[in-house]
Amino acid sequence: MNPRPSVVIVGAGIAGLAAAWELTGARDGPNESTPRVELIESSDHVGGALLSADFAGRVLDLGPDGFLARRPEAVTLAREVGLEEQLVPIAASGASIFLKGAVEELPTGLVLGVPTNAKAIKAMKGLSWSSRWSAWRDEHAPKKLKVTDDVSIGTILRAKLGGELTYQLIEPMVGGIQAGRLDELSAAAVFPALYEAAQRGGSLMKALRTGAEAHSGPTAERVLGPLFMSLRGGVASLAEELARQLVERGVVVRTGTEVTALRPTPSGIYPWEVDTADTATSASAIILATPAPTAGRLTNALDDALNALASINSAGAAMITFVFVTADTSLPPTGTGVLIPLATEWDDDIMMTTAITFLDRKWEHLRRDGEILLRAHVGRIDDRRSEILSDDALIERVLREITTVLGRVGTPKAARVQRWPQGLPQYYVGHEQLVARARHALSPYAIRLAGSAYDGVGIPASIGSGRRAARDVVTLLNAAATA
Ligand SMILES: Cc1cc2nc3c(=O)[nH]c(=O)nc-3n(C[C@H](O)[C@H](O)[C@H](O)COP(=O)(O)OP(=O)(O)OC[C@H]3O[C@@H](n4cnc5c(N)ncnc54)[C@H](O)[C@@H]3O)c2cc1C
Repeated sequence: MNPRPSVVIVGAGIAGLAAAWELTGARDGPNESTPRVELIESSDHVGGALLSADFAGRVLDLGPDGFLARRPEAVTLAREVGLEEQLVPIAASGASIFLKGAVEELPTGLVLGVPTNAKAIKAMKGLSWSSRWSAWRDEHAPKKLKVTDDVSIGTILRAKLGGELTYQLIEPMVGGIQAGRLDELSAAAVFPALYEAAQRGGSLMKALRTGAEAHSGPTAERVLGPLFMSLRGGVASLAEELARQLVERGVVVRTGTEVTALRPTPSGIYPWEVDTADTATSASAIILATPAPTAGRLTNALDDALNALASINSAGAAMITFVFVTADTSLPPTGTGVLIPLATEWDDDIMMTTAITFLDRKWEHLRRDGEILLRAHVGRIDDRRSEILSDDALIERVLREITTVLGRVGTPKAARVQRWPQGLPQYYVGHEQLVARARHALSPYAIRLAGSAYDGVGIPASIGSGRRAARDVVTLLNAAATA
């Protein structure tokens, strides 16, 4: 009789947790063919970037505070684990941008920051005539650009819409999603709609407009539901609840334990052993749900192509959350926050803050009478200035910066710094090919890759990636059982 299959998942971020959920039968739960599952996590908590803490009388997410709800993965998983009643829709829309020393509302119809209507750009006071002309020209006499292979998002935008729109208006939004630079990020992997529009030729704005019209406004809201959602107990409660139910299902969850090596054991009952400092777990299959460089280090002895995983860098970020007294602040009347272009001059320097989010406008459950809950984001792939500042120095600096942007915020009642030295993988030009080559190199082995380094950054994409890896492993185990 074959021994019970054993699957080891390395990394208990949301991708690893979702993989374990899928392996143990998802909504239906385990049955007689469910493998033994062990989840090994190097940090002291499950969830990776999904982490919360008590702060100023609220459960505050210290990492992601919401997720895209028009992709199904996160909402579906929340429902499957019984958190449906906890799902809350985003309660505000729109945003502003800090241009030429003033906060200005962003026009509607932007697609990841890219305008889809030259008229809306014409009304923006913080942009020069040359930007307005570039937008007009793209609609009426678009510049030619031949795009055959993957290029950077910046290459397309600069050629079609000019430098000012690219760096002042678009980079703060699309670059902000993974704290990267538009001149490095892959158009094919990060912004496929833009890539396809550029390949087709003609006006970028017109090509993106059709999608924008279908996905924004009250009708889209009614038909497609809210764009973003969160959980009343914090996004991190999804990871906590998953881990709790996985343990109930018999999954072995080990935190504070780093996986140090994967060893093939050709003569053993199981083909692999997964090593930590003081244990070796036998495995029929392994899911690597760690950052890509770790996956590369654990597998590169199998094939040189896996060395390339080390080049998927991650950007770090810090988020500084403040509670202010409402009466002391002057915020824009509406919107979820203010974006700040990267090269915004400030004092004798350049601003560190890349965005300000009004957390309690976004999420009703975080509101308290007389208070404003505000979060400042700092850090980009090429801006690690915040790392050398102490928490107190960072709070002081960011407070002065946001006072410049918003005008008046008063003295904070509370402030908290959360640093994420890594966590936002960079999809450089050629990312999809790199990942395909790595997966191909692993295909002869029962080892699969999952997580935000490969198929999309963000909670829904990471969940989808974890669940797909698990389904792949189930197929491998079934094939081995019938061989
Ligand atoms: C500051 C910040 C804000 C974000 N905001 C949002 C947002 O609002 N909405 C959204 O959808 N997404 C957001 N994201 C992105 C989202 O959080 C991630 O895409 C997602 O959580 C990644 O999950 P993951 O499981 O792939 O990776 P991770 O969460 O990074 O998990 C990987 C795990 O592997 C572990 N590990 C590493 N090496 C080893 C080893 N050798 N042995 C064992 N374990 C190991 C790590 O400790 C970690 O827990 C944000 C990310 C950050 C950093």
